[in-house]
Amino acid sequence: MTKTNDSENYAEILRQLPSIDAILRSETATRLMAAAGADQLTGLARAVTETLRDEILSLKNGNSTGNNNYSKRSLLTEAEKRLENAWRSQQKKKLRRVINATGVIIHTNLGRAPLSEAAKRALVENGPGYCTLEYAVETGGRGRRGGLAEKMLADLTGADDALIVNNCAAAAVLVLTALSNGGEAIVSRGELVEIGGDFRIPDVMTQSGAILREVGTTNRTTVADYERAITENTRLIVKVHPSNYRIIGFTEAPVIADLAELAGANDVLIYEDAGSGALFDLSKYGLQDEPVIKDSVAAGADVITFSGDKLIGGTQSGLIVGRSAIIETLRKHPLYRALRVSKIIYAALEATLDAFLRESAEDEIPVIKMLSLSEAELRKRAENFTGSLLEALGPDRNLDLEVIGGKSVVGGGSAPAAQPKTALVSVRPKHISINKLEEKLRFSDPPIVTRVLEDRVTIDLRTVAPAEESELLEILVSLARAG
Ligand SMILES: *Cc1c(COP(=O)(O)O)cnc(C)c1O
Repeated sequence: MTKTNDSENYAEILRQLPSIDAILRSETATRLMAAAGADQLTGLARAVTETLRDEILSLKNGNSTGNNNYSKRSLLTEAEKRLENAWRSQQKKKLRRVINATGVIIHTNLGRAPLSEAAKRALVENGPGYCTLEYAVETGGRGRRGGLAEKMLADLTGADDALIVNNCAAAAVLVLTALSNGGEAIVSRGELVEIGGDFRIPDVMTQSGAILREVGTTNRTTVADYERAITENTRLIVKVHPSNYRIIGFTEAPVIADLAELAGANDVLIYEDAGSGALFDLSKYGLQDEPVIKDSVAAGADVITFSGDKLIGGTQSGLIVGRSAIIETLRKHPLYRALRVSKIIYAALEATLDAFLRESAEDEIPVIKMLSLSEAELRKRAENFTGSLLEALGPDRNLDLEVIGGKSVVGGGSAPAAQPKTALVSVRPKHISINKLEEKLRFSDPPIVTRVLEDRVTIDLRTVAPAEESELLEILVSLARAG
């Protein structure tokens, strides 16, 4: 049938459109049935016939697509092809493993911290089935939720007790709601920051019902500023680690130890939102500004919150440590029930924290290990990788490769100033554009996420696990061979 403006003919074409039933009886649908299930496949078949119908109708209105074979047979073939594509593209939307070749260690879009081997095992072995979440084996009665992970946190930080919630934002909401109790919370103007992903300190405070008392200026706040703001309605002094933001130059901000006496004398609590939460001093890796939680506890912070999936290198969670009475208040607060975490989170966190307790975090926790890799080690890996790639590609390769100097990024709002030196594998295609190569890498399986720097695609092996290197190499070789 050829293209025509005669409405009769379009009605005839529409009659050739396969029914949903006919599509479901097709060879393609029969093949996909077990994987997709009847309901999903029917939904996809319906969407396919609808778009085909729309396309035919738009043709009638003069928008030719150039394809003008509308026999029953060819329409069914087209529908089958589209059904298969629709199913495939839906599958690709599932959560997928990616290779992070960006050098951004705590990459929020890529799921922040990759877990340690022990944490992965714990997720699979201890978490998913029935487990001792709230069961005491010794008595056969009810046990305490979150027991060991909370105790480990207290041991690691020197705090009396700890509590775990969904993320650091949830922890902040819980602390501010439960402890401000409608009273006032004092914050320095230099700490009224937005962390990213819509977490703005002033908004969180409003949401929690705390009355925000701003003190000082953006660059300077003194103990006297806090002192003047204290009234009988003051419940909290809030210290926020500015994370992804730095004020440099003429600045002053009291540390917790400077405020402890003032808080104690006025019966006011000090709450620190530490953000990334280092469990030990990471300044040897360039992270001088990250609060070490046990130092904050020792300096007199009454309660501290931090993320479980930034520098702790565990699963998404909000970790709270502090004085017994405060943690007990939080645990009993109705909001805690809405913010608590699941059994698999406790399983992974226990295994993660255990590595810190054994002082093996530098060997076992990927985030800490990646931070600790020296430029020399990374250069050696990059040179070996490039050597293997050159060898595999042979002399007629269509990629230019070299090892160049560069910088990794800590990410996740941690230490914006710390950019660890690294060695990058620079890849320049001879026949396609840089952006096309970046896209091809992203479309591979698993997707490889790289950084484009000016006229090259760069691979930073700092964030690529050694076990992923051969896979990455194979994908690059097959892309290069394909052109
Ligand atoms: C990252 C961060 C948060 C938010 O933590 P999530 O775990 O992402 O909810 C809150 N406060 C500070 C200071 C942070 O750095």
